[in-house]
Amino acid sequence: MSSAFEAVIGLEVHAQLLTRTKLFCPAEARFTDVPNTHIGPVTLGLPGALPAVNEVAIRLAVMAGLALGCDVQRDSIFARKHYFYPDLPKGYQISQFDRPLNVGGHVDIEVSGQRKRVTLERIHVEEDAAKNLHGVGSASLSHIDFNRAGIPLIEIVSNPDMASSEEAEAYLRALREILMFAGVNDGNLEEGSFRCDANVSIRPVGSKTLGTRTELKNINSFRFVRKAIDYEIARQESVIVSGGQVVQETRSWNENEQKTVAMRSKEFAHDYRYFPDPDLPPLVVDEALLSRARAALPELPEALRTRWKSVFGLSDYDAGVLSAHPGLARFFESTLAHAADESARAEAAKPVANYLQSEVLREVSYDGLSAHFPVTPEALFELVSLVMSGELSSKLAKQVYAELLAKGGSPKAIVAAQGLSQISDRSEILAVVQAILAANPDKVAAYRQGKLGLKGFFVGQAMQRTDGRANPQALGEVLDAELAGDPA
Ligand code: ADP
Ligand code: MG
Repeated sequence: MSSAFEAVIGLEVHAQLLTRTKLFCPAEARFTDVPNTHIGPVTLGLPGALPAVNEVAIRLAVMAGLALGCDVQRDSIFARKHYFYPDLPKGYQISQFDRPLNVGGHVDIEVSGQRKRVTLERIHVEEDAAKNLHGVGSASLSHIDFNRAGIPLIEIVSNPDMASSEEAEAYLRALREILMFAGVNDGNLEEGSFRCDANVSIRPVGSKTLGTRTELKNINSFRFVRKAIDYEIARQESVIVSGGQVVQETRSWNENEQKTVAMRSKEFAHDYRYFPDPDLPPLVVDEALLSRARAALPELPEALRTRWKSVFGLSDYDAGVLSAHPGLARFFESTLAHAADESARAEAAKPVANYLQSEVLREVSYDGLSAHFPVTPEALFELVSLVMSGELSSKLAKQVYAELLAKGGSPKAIVAAQGLSQISDRSEILAVVQAILAANPDKVAAYRQGKLGLKGFFVGQAMQRTDGRANPQALGEVLDAELAGDPA
């Protein structure tokens, strides 16, 4: 973008709440199963079916509000939002309009070292629509999967506080992280349980009024979000620079053509005819619900990183990597929980953090840690402790780790069964060294005449004879002392 204009971006995020059942009925909230297996009278909007609100969904929505610093409303109202589309059997979506559950709030971001607070307008609760499947099976047919209809969502509406695609991405990442750590949402962009629409406009630098915006859809990855926003900023600028006017419309990111294309313009904008849903009473958040939500809210990522840095002395980088996913963060914490006391925990933190990054995350993605990962936090702690105490060389630790990955079990048991423990006993090392020197008198003489590079040969011999178990430091010292000895 040229320096004459600045971009203004506001994001609307739909996040599915992690409930077992739907927002207004007992059907299971599982949208990736065989189509139309989790449905019922309420889901299908059959005449006479009445909604009853899922309290767990409301608790999760309140937790989201608390986690994001919103003003949680004691009274809010469900409203009907009308439109006609096959994915909406009732002819309206139950949402919230002028009295949402959560008002205000904020997400703090950092872009190239600059911290910035993005403020929120609101977070409201609503039901998801069904999913239209076009051209599945036959190109000429469309199908509707009602499994998704009625799954609880929160819509997080930001104020137009962002000024670049980088800020928009940072906002989305931070928001997703908070919702995942709060246990409210699984953060899955590809499957669509965390979806974003981006509103983009530009205005002359220094102007205080907002320009006409377009709303971008179909941006289900961080990369698409960035590319679609950048494209749109450039497109709007070229429209204005060539004397035209930006049209308020909804546009869709087309990944194949690397551009946004118009979907519907304002002329076709919906009149949703919102009104309070007469089937539902006002949504009341009482003190009991509020305190349950507070109690259920775990430590959030920012607080976690601050604590890890101050208590464990982790670097910004390590704290960032280990808090990339709640599953990984929990694994790290549970591993350290096996330390005997606070000081042992602090001492083990850095080695455990290193081991997780260098070995564990090499083979398993961080969200795989929660599922069927065979290495338990207890086993990892034991393994790292064996290395820290010098009982196991880091090289042999890898062997033990591979065994743990393959079969699970306890590192101590594996070390004992395979005879892998490190030899630190100097008299044992001395015997090995003396035998090697005695077998290689010519090399000993050459070393003593200045061919110091031969030390590597002696170390190699000693490691070979001990199956790599000699403590490298002790071996080096014993070897130096023996090689320095008087030539006989
Ligand atoms: P709607 O109800 O049509 O979606 P809203 O006024 O609720 O419209 O705004 C939706 C989103 O669009 C919000 O995130 C808001 O910050 C953003 N937004 C509103 N006006 C602009 C603008 N001129 N430029 C960029 N974003 C905007
Ligand atoms: Mg909108």
